[in-house]
Amino acid sequence: MKKITIIGGGPAGYAAALYANNFELEVTLVESDVLGGTCLNRGCIPAKYWLHVAELNHEINHAHEFGIEVGKKEIYWAKTTNKRNEIVNKLVSGIGALLKSKKVNVVEGWGQVESKNVVVVKKENGEEERIASDYILLATGSQPRNLPNLEFDNDFIISSDTALNWNKPPSSVCIVGAGAIGCEFASLLVDLGSEVTVVELEEEILPGLDKRTSGELRKQLTKRGVNFKLQTSIESVNDKELIFSDGEKENFESVLVAIGRKPFTESMGLENVGITIENGFIPVDLETMKTSVDSIYALGDIVKDSPQLAHVAFAEAISAITHIATGEKSPVNYSAIPYVVYTNPELAEVGINSDKAKVAELDISQSQHSFVGIGRAMIQNQNQGVVKVYAEEDGPIVGASVCGPNAGELIHELMYMVGWEALPSEAAEFIHAHPTLSEAIGESLMSLSGKGLH
Ligand SMILES: Cc1cc2nc3c(=O)[nH]c(=O)nc-3n(C[C@H](O)[C@H](O)[C@H](O)COP(=O)(O)OP(=O)(O)OC[C@H]3O[C@@H](n4cnc5c(N)ncnc54)[C@H](O)[C@@H]3O)c2cc1C
Repeated sequence: MKKITIIGGGPAGYAAALYANNFELEVTLVESDVLGGTCLNRGCIPAKYWLHVAELNHEINHAHEFGIEVGKKEIYWAKTTNKRNEIVNKLVSGIGALLKSKKVNVVEGWGQVESKNVVVVKKENGEEERIASDYILLATGSQPRNLPNLEFDNDFIISSDTALNWNKPPSSVCIVGAGAIGCEFASLLVDLGSEVTVVELEEEILPGLDKRTSGELRKQLTKRGVNFKLQTSIESVNDKELIFSDGEKENFESVLVAIGRKPFTESMGLENVGITIENGFIPVDLETMKTSVDSIYALGDIVKDSPQLAHVAFAEAISAITHIATGEKSPVNYSAIPYVVYTNPELAEVGINSDKAKVAELDISQSQHSFVGIGRAMIQNQNQGVVKVYAEEDGPIVGASVCGPNAGELIHELMYMVGWEALPSEAAEFIHAHPTLSEAIGESLMSLSGKGLH
């Protein structure tokens, strides 16, 4: 039986360990902290929990528009944070139980690569354990990046790690960076009553995503009270006062730096085997996830040229395990990965958008349909936003971008079209149920195929 050792128990590492159970593989998983990694403990799950609480608060505040008077509303923050901890703990212990049921040997400690086939684990009590195996999988994830003039002090200048452990949101916050994490915090904090300013160097929020849908999200967040300062940076900090590049000065209770995440590839003994590292990331053969060293694979946030997303980590784990167990290539389809920003409203994208098409010198046609006239969206008081779909000129659908209610769920329909290279005329033949939010997609597809309805 082949033996594998995985370093890191986040989505990449635990998914590899679980999937290995489908084959004759003996698995050891080394984790220095809590199972579940960033995703369960400091990322996806706690962030989406707070977004849900914020949305609930927003709905309650607007219930009167439907004739429902709620009376005096009170938020008991201790209860709110307890519920978050309950959910995180349940998911973390669930992963532990699953790994146990699949006979994965979980070892607690700091894993380092000693040689091509040996991992040494440094334990808290000072002991060391050497684990020999046929293959080593690196899945050590990432950590928040800081800025030279904004070093984290975990009090005033903080990362998402600290923010997700707030027991109560601050009264005012400046968020540095309008990527997915920055926008999600802006959305949830404004809905929980904080004063929110977002500073972004680029000319539009969510750089890299479709400018039309990103602009739509910015407009909606602005309407709810978020102050966006685009093409602006922070020049300096004077006690609790920030001095911006446009000359303005303002005091904040907290500064949340959300400018991206750096891969965790230090102090892991990678130099012992001479693995290629570029700017901290590990380049791999993206068809197999194999690194420059034959017996060593890399997965998840540490991989070069791969989006830092939990579902990508899962897919890369499946690809690597398939290659190790069967020798067959099962590459991740990077061209059809859904990307979701869980703001209120959500923004989701898949495949190519107009900017990416320009870079790829691809001739595309596009259509868009607004949520304004969509009955279901109106019922939900969320009839704002847009669906955009892109197709190659006289060719298949290659991308889509949605900003609107439930965009994170709606995008999966479009993901299949991109993945299966559906033609607009084929996709437009299918009927969407009425009244649903998906009707906005159906209308957009009909327009794209040249025969719009509404
Ligand atoms: C605020 C926030 C929100 C996010 N929201 C989303 C979202 O909605 N959807 C989404 O897809 N992604 C989201 N992400 C990104 C997602 O969390 C990551 O892409 C995902 O966790 C990456 O998985 P990973 O296994 O590569 O790394 P990680 O989850 O970081 O796990 C790495 C693990 O390795 C362990 N480790 C590191 N070094 C060693 C060592 N030497 N020895 C032993 N153990 C070690 C760490 O303790 C950690 O547990 C979010 C991230 C943040 C910060």
